Amino acid sequence: MKTTDPNSNKNPEVISKRSLSFSNDDSVEITISPNGGACFGVVRAIKLGQQAADKGKDSNSPVFSFGAIVHNPKTIRELEAQGVKTVEDQTEVTGGTVILRSHGVKQEIEKDFKTRGVQVVDATCPLVKKPQKIAASLGNKGYYLVLVGDSNHPEVKGVVSYFAKENYLVTYKIEDLEKIPADVSKVGIVAQTTIEVKVLDKIVEACRKRFSEVAVYNTICDATSIRQEEAEILAKGADVLVVVGGKNSSNTNKLVKICKQYQPDTYLIEEMNELNLQWFLGKRKIGVTGGASTPQDYVDDVGQKIADLLNVAHRTPTLNS
Ligand code: SF4
Repeated sequence: MKTTDPNSNKNPEVISKRSLSFSNDDSVEITISPNGGACFGVVRAIKLGQQAADKGKDSNSPVFSFGAIVHNPKTIRELEAQGVKTVEDQTEVTGGTVILRSHGVKQEIEKDFKTRGVQVVDATCPLVKKPQKIAASLGNKGYYLVLVGDSNHPEVKGVVSYFAKENYLVTYKIEDLEKIPADVSKVGIVAQTTIEVKVLDKIVEACRKRFSEVAVYNTICDATSIRQEEAEILAKGADVLVVVGGKNSSNTNKLVKICKQYQPDTYLIEEMNELNLQWFLGKRKIGVTGGASTPQDYVDDVGQKIADLLNVAHRTPTLNS
Protein backbone atom coordinates (compact mmCIF):
# COMPACT_ATOMS: atom_id res chain seq x y z
CA MET A 1 0.00 0.00 0.00
CA LYS A 2 1.30 3.41 -0.90
CA THR A 3 0.44 6.27 1.41
CA THR A 4 0.22 9.93 0.47
CA ASP A 5 1.77 12.89 2.21
CA PRO A 6 -0.68 15.80 2.61
CA ASN A 7 1.87 18.14 4.14
CA SER A 8 5.22 18.12 2.45
CA ASN A 9 7.02 20.19 5.09
CA LYS A 10 6.65 17.36 7.61
CA ASN A 11 8.38 14.04 7.76
CA PRO A 12 6.16 11.76 5.67
CA GLU A 13 7.25 8.80 7.75
CA VAL A 14 5.71 10.46 10.79
CA ILE A 15 2.43 11.59 9.33
CA SER A 16 1.90 9.28 6.39
CA LYS A 17 -0.73 7.24 8.17
CA ARG A 18 -2.72 10.45 8.64
CA SER A 19 -3.52 10.35 4.95
CA LEU A 20 -3.95 6.68 4.48
CA SER A 21 -5.58 5.79 1.21
CA PHE A 22 -5.68 2.91 -1.15
CA SER A 23 -7.79 1.75 -3.98
CA ASN A 24 -8.79 -1.45 -5.59
CA ASP A 25 -11.45 -2.03 -8.20
CA ASP A 26 -13.97 -0.35 -5.92
CA SER A 27 -11.73 2.69 -5.16
CA VAL A 28 -12.05 2.46 -1.41
CA GLU A 29 -10.53 5.40 0.45
CA ILE A 30 -9.76 5.58 4.14
CA THR A 31 -9.23 9.00 5.68
CA ILE A 32 -7.94 9.53 9.19
CA SER A 33 -8.84 12.83 10.80
CA PRO A 34 -5.54 14.82 10.89
CA ASN A 35 -5.91 15.71 14.57
CA GLY A 36 -7.96 12.70 15.61
CA GLY A 37 -6.63 11.15 18.80
CA ALA A 38 -4.83 12.25 21.93
CA CYS A 39 -4.58 15.93 22.76
CA PHE A 40 -1.56 17.46 24.46
CA GLY A 41 -3.23 17.28 27.89
CA VAL A 42 -3.69 13.53 27.58
CA VAL A 43 -0.21 12.94 26.17
CA ARG A 44 1.16 14.97 29.10
CA ALA A 45 -0.90 13.04 31.67
CA ILE A 46 0.17 9.65 30.31
CA LYS A 47 3.82 10.75 30.34
CA LEU A 48 3.53 11.93 33.95
CA GLY A 49 1.85 8.61 34.80
CA GLN A 50 4.67 6.63 33.20
CA GLN A 51 7.31 8.71 34.99
CA ALA A 52 5.54 8.20 38.32
CA ALA A 53 5.35 4.44 37.64
CA ASP A 54 9.11 4.31 36.96
CA LYS A 55 9.90 6.22 40.16
CA GLY A 56 7.56 3.99 42.14
CA LYS A 57 9.38 0.90 40.86
CA ASP A 58 12.80 2.42 41.68
CA SER A 59 11.78 3.38 45.22
CA ASN A 60 9.54 0.35 45.75
CA SER A 61 6.63 2.55 46.81
CA PRO A 62 3.00 2.38 45.64
CA VAL A 63 1.67 4.58 42.85
CA PHE A 64 -2.03 5.36 42.57
CA SER A 65 -4.11 7.21 40.04
CA PHE A 66 -7.09 8.96 41.58
CA GLY A 67 -9.77 8.13 39.04
CA ALA A 68 -8.94 7.16 35.48
CA ILE A 69 -5.92 9.24 34.52
CA VAL A 70 -7.45 9.58 31.05
CA HIS A 71 -10.77 8.26 29.74
CA ASN A 72 -9.33 5.39 27.78
CA PRO A 73 -9.49 1.86 29.24
CA LYS A 74 -6.63 0.59 27.06
CA THR A 75 -4.24 3.26 28.38
CA ILE A 76 -5.36 2.58 31.95
CA ARG A 77 -4.62 -1.12 31.55
CA GLU A 78 -1.15 -0.33 30.19
CA LEU A 79 -0.39 1.93 33.16
CA GLU A 80 -1.74 -0.69 35.56
CA ALA A 81 0.66 -3.19 34.04
CA GLN A 82 3.43 -0.75 35.00
CA GLY A 83 2.21 -0.67 38.58
CA VAL A 84 -0.19 2.30 38.63
CA LYS A 85 -3.29 1.32 40.58
CA THR A 86 -6.43 3.25 39.70
CA VAL A 87 -8.67 3.98 42.70
CA GLU A 88 -12.00 5.77 42.95
CA ASP A 89 -11.96 6.39 46.69
CA GLN A 90 -9.36 8.71 48.19
CA THR A 91 -9.05 6.54 51.33
CA GLU A 92 -7.58 3.78 49.14
CA VAL A 93 -4.52 5.97 48.66
CA THR A 94 -2.56 4.84 51.66
CA GLY A 95 0.84 6.41 50.92
CA GLY A 96 3.42 6.65 48.18
CA THR A 97 2.39 8.70 45.17
CA VAL A 98 -0.95 9.69 43.73
CA ILE A 99 -1.47 11.00 40.21
CA LEU A 100 -4.29 13.49 39.75
CA ARG A 101 -6.15 12.67 36.52
CA SER A 102 -6.06 14.95 33.46
CA HIS A 103 -9.52 16.35 34.11
CA GLY A 104 -8.78 17.36 37.67
CA VAL A 105 -10.08 16.53 41.13
CA LYS A 106 -11.96 18.42 43.83
CA GLN A 107 -9.61 20.76 45.65
CA GLU A 108 -10.44 19.24 49.04
CA ILE A 109 -9.28 15.85 47.80
CA GLU A 110 -5.92 17.22 46.69
CA LYS A 111 -5.57 18.95 50.07
CA ASP A 112 -6.36 15.68 51.85
CA PHE A 113 -3.59 13.84 49.99
CA LYS A 114 -1.07 16.55 50.78
CA THR A 115 -2.11 16.70 54.44
CA ARG A 116 -1.55 12.95 54.71
CA GLY A 117 1.95 13.26 53.23
CA VAL A 118 1.12 11.52 49.95
CA GLN A 119 3.33 12.68 47.07
CA VAL A 120 1.04 14.37 44.52
CA VAL A 121 1.77 14.30 40.79
CA ASP A 122 -0.64 16.77 39.26
CA ALA A 123 -1.54 15.57 35.77
CA THR A 124 -4.48 18.00 35.57
CA CYS A 125 -4.44 19.50 32.09
CA PRO A 126 -3.48 23.20 32.14
CA LEU A 127 -6.68 23.89 30.19
CA VAL A 128 -8.72 22.38 33.03
CA LYS A 129 -6.82 24.47 35.57
CA LYS A 130 -8.15 27.54 33.75
CA PRO A 131 -11.89 27.08 34.56
CA GLN A 132 -10.89 26.06 38.10
CA LYS A 133 -9.09 29.38 38.59
CA ILE A 134 -11.87 31.40 36.92
CA ALA A 135 -14.51 29.72 39.10
CA ALA A 136 -12.49 30.57 42.22
CA SER A 137 -12.23 34.19 41.10
CA LEU A 138 -15.96 34.43 40.27
CA GLY A 139 -16.76 33.03 43.71
CA ASN A 140 -14.60 35.67 45.38
CA LYS A 141 -16.25 38.44 43.35
CA GLY A 142 -19.81 37.42 44.26
CA TYR A 143 -20.97 36.14 40.90
CA TYR A 144 -23.61 33.46 40.48
CA LEU A 145 -21.84 30.70 38.57
CA VAL A 146 -23.40 29.08 35.51
CA LEU A 147 -21.19 26.15 34.61
CA VAL A 148 -22.15 24.83 31.20
CA GLY A 149 -21.52 21.12 31.34
CA ASP A 150 -22.45 17.74 32.74
CA SER A 151 -22.90 17.79 36.52
CA ASN A 152 -21.72 14.17 36.79
CA HIS A 153 -18.43 14.74 35.01
CA PRO A 154 -15.35 14.71 37.29
CA GLU A 155 -13.97 17.84 35.65
CA VAL A 156 -17.17 19.72 36.47
CA LYS A 157 -17.19 18.51 40.08
CA GLY A 158 -13.60 19.72 40.38
CA VAL A 159 -14.39 23.17 38.96
CA VAL A 160 -17.40 23.56 41.28
CA SER A 161 -15.18 22.78 44.29
CA TYR A 162 -12.95 25.72 43.36
CA PHE A 163 -15.98 28.02 43.18
CA ALA A 164 -16.53 27.04 46.82
CA LYS A 165 -19.99 28.65 47.12
CA GLU A 166 -23.55 27.34 46.93
CA ASN A 167 -24.92 29.84 44.38
CA TYR A 168 -24.23 27.99 41.16
CA LEU A 169 -25.98 25.99 38.45
CA VAL A 170 -24.48 23.27 36.29
CA THR A 171 -26.42 22.71 33.11
CA TYR A 172 -26.40 22.56 29.34
CA LYS A 173 -30.15 23.13 28.99
CA ILE A 174 -31.66 26.59 28.58
CA GLU A 175 -34.81 25.62 30.51
CA ASP A 176 -32.70 24.96 33.63
CA LEU A 177 -31.85 28.67 33.81
CA GLU A 178 -35.33 29.11 35.37
CA LYS A 179 -33.84 27.55 38.50
CA ILE A 180 -31.63 30.57 39.10
CA PRO A 181 -33.15 32.64 41.93
CA ALA A 182 -35.02 35.79 40.87
CA ASP A 183 -32.74 38.13 42.86
CA VAL A 184 -29.60 37.14 40.92
CA SER A 185 -28.39 39.96 38.69
CA LYS A 186 -24.82 39.08 37.76
CA VAL A 187 -23.74 35.71 36.46
CA GLY A 188 -20.40 34.34 35.39
CA ILE A 189 -20.46 31.66 32.71
CA VAL A 190 -17.73 29.04 32.48
CA ALA A 191 -17.72 25.97 30.21
CA GLN A 192 -16.69 22.38 30.69
CA THR A 193 -13.70 22.02 28.37
CA THR A 194 -15.39 19.38 26.22
CA ILE A 195 -18.77 21.00 25.71
CA GLU A 196 -19.99 21.92 22.20
CA VAL A 197 -19.55 25.58 21.31
CA LYS A 198 -23.17 25.77 20.08
CA VAL A 199 -24.43 24.70 23.52
CA LEU A 200 -22.38 27.39 25.26
CA ASP A 201 -23.56 30.04 22.77
CA LYS A 202 -27.23 29.28 23.45
CA ILE A 203 -26.80 29.53 27.23
CA VAL A 204 -24.89 32.81 26.86
CA GLU A 205 -27.60 34.26 24.63
CA ALA A 206 -30.35 33.29 27.09
CA CYS A 207 -28.42 34.71 30.05
CA ARG A 208 -27.80 38.01 28.26
CA LYS A 209 -31.55 38.40 27.79
CA ARG A 210 -32.25 37.91 31.47
CA PHE A 211 -29.35 39.21 33.61
CA SER A 212 -27.96 42.74 33.78
CA GLU A 213 -24.35 41.56 34.04
CA VAL A 214 -23.01 38.49 32.29
CA ALA A 215 -19.31 37.61 32.38
CA VAL A 216 -18.50 34.95 29.77
CA TYR A 217 -15.43 32.74 29.84
CA ASN A 218 -15.20 30.40 26.90
CA THR A 219 -13.07 27.70 28.49
CA ILE A 220 -13.80 25.14 25.79
CA CYS A 221 -10.58 23.48 24.81
CA ASP A 222 -9.35 23.97 21.24
CA ALA A 223 -8.37 20.34 21.07
CA THR A 224 -12.00 19.47 21.47
CA SER A 225 -13.41 21.98 19.01
CA ILE A 226 -10.77 21.17 16.36
CA ARG A 227 -11.60 17.46 16.62
CA GLN A 228 -15.32 18.27 16.48
CA GLU A 229 -14.93 20.44 13.36
CA GLU A 230 -12.78 17.79 11.65
CA ALA A 231 -15.29 15.09 12.59
CA GLU A 232 -18.11 17.09 11.01
CA ILE A 233 -16.15 17.56 7.77
CA LEU A 234 -15.16 13.89 7.73
CA ALA A 235 -18.73 12.75 8.39
CA LYS A 236 -20.16 14.90 5.60
CA GLY A 237 -17.93 13.17 3.06
CA ALA A 238 -17.88 9.61 4.37
CA ASP A 239 -20.06 6.55 3.77
CA VAL A 240 -19.12 5.08 7.13
CA LEU A 241 -17.21 6.34 10.17
CA VAL A 242 -15.29 4.76 13.00
CA VAL A 243 -14.65 6.76 16.16
CA VAL A 244 -11.96 5.28 18.40
CA GLY A 245 -12.14 6.09 22.08
CA GLY A 246 -13.32 5.23 25.56
CA LYS A 247 -17.05 4.58 25.80
CA ASN A 248 -16.91 6.54 29.07
CA SER A 249 -15.16 9.49 27.41
CA SER A 250 -17.25 12.65 27.16
CA ASN A 251 -15.38 14.12 24.20
CA THR A 252 -15.41 10.81 22.32
CA ASN A 253 -19.16 10.49 22.74
CA LYS A 254 -19.61 14.03 21.47
CA LEU A 255 -17.63 13.13 18.34
CA VAL A 256 -19.95 10.18 17.82
CA LYS A 257 -22.99 12.41 18.24
CA ILE A 258 -21.67 14.95 15.72
CA CYS A 259 -20.74 12.25 13.19
CA LYS A 260 -24.13 10.56 13.49
CA GLN A 261 -25.87 13.82 12.59
CA TYR A 262 -24.30 13.60 9.13
CA GLN A 263 -23.62 9.89 8.78
CA PRO A 264 -25.79 7.45 10.75
CA ASP A 265 -23.32 4.65 9.92
CA THR A 266 -20.97 5.76 12.69
CA TYR A 267 -19.45 3.21 15.04
CA LEU A 268 -17.68 3.78 18.36
CA ILE A 269 -14.99 1.27 19.26
CA GLU A 270 -12.59 1.10 22.18
CA GLU A 271 -10.52 -1.77 20.87
CA MET A 272 -9.45 -2.81 17.41
CA ASN A 273 -11.04 -6.24 17.79
CA GLU A 274 -14.48 -4.57 17.82
CA LEU A 275 -14.12 -3.73 14.11
CA ASN A 276 -16.62 -5.54 11.94
CA LEU A 277 -15.86 -6.09 8.27
CA GLN A 278 -19.59 -5.94 7.47
CA TRP A 279 -19.60 -2.21 8.33
CA PHE A 280 -17.29 -1.47 5.38
CA LEU A 281 -18.43 -3.76 2.60
CA GLY A 282 -19.84 -1.76 -0.31
CA LYS A 283 -18.61 1.54 1.17
CA ARG A 284 -16.23 3.73 -0.78
CA LYS A 285 -15.28 6.46 1.67
CA ILE A 286 -14.32 5.44 5.19
CA GLY A 287 -13.53 7.98 7.89
CA VAL A 288 -11.61 7.29 11.10
CA THR A 289 -11.20 9.63 14.01
CA GLY A 290 -10.41 9.36 17.70
CA GLY A 291 -11.36 11.07 20.92
CA ALA A 292 -8.90 13.33 22.69
CA SER A 293 -8.09 10.52 25.16
CA THR A 294 -7.04 7.98 22.53
CA PRO A 295 -3.36 7.75 21.57
CA GLN A 296 -2.94 8.87 17.94
CA ASP A 297 -0.88 5.77 17.13
CA TYR A 298 -3.84 3.63 18.08
CA VAL A 299 -6.21 5.62 15.86
CA ASP A 300 -3.74 5.18 13.00
CA ASP A 301 -3.48 1.46 13.70
CA VAL A 302 -7.27 1.16 13.50
CA GLY A 303 -7.14 2.83 10.06
CA GLN A 304 -4.45 0.39 9.00
CA LYS A 305 -6.45 -2.54 10.34
CA ILE A 306 -9.50 -1.51 8.31
CA ALA A 307 -7.27 -1.31 5.24
CA ASP A 308 -5.95 -4.79 6.00
CA LEU A 309 -9.45 -6.14 6.48
CA LEU A 310 -10.56 -4.74 3.15
CA ASN A 311 -7.50 -6.03 1.37
CA VAL A 312 -8.49 -9.45 2.52
CA ALA A 313 -12.10 -8.87 1.58
CA HIS A 314 -11.32 -7.66 -1.91
CA ARG A 315 -8.37 -10.02 -2.44
CA THR A 316 -6.75 -8.12 -5.31
CA PRO A 317 -6.04 -4.56 -4.21
CA THR A 318 -4.30 -2.26 -6.64
CA LEU A 319 -2.62 0.65 -4.93
CA ASN A 320 -3.10 4.22 -6.08
CA SER A 321 -0.42 6.91 -6.10
S1 SF4 B 1 -9.31 17.70 25.79
FE1 SF4 B 1 -8.40 19.70 26.12
S2 SF4 B 1 -8.80 20.07 28.29
FE2 SF4 B 1 -9.04 17.90 28.00
S3 SF4 B 1 -7.03 17.06 28.43
FE3 SF4 B 1 -7.12 17.45 26.24
S4 SF4 B 1 -6.16 19.47 25.96
FE4 SF4 B 1 -6.74 19.24 28.11
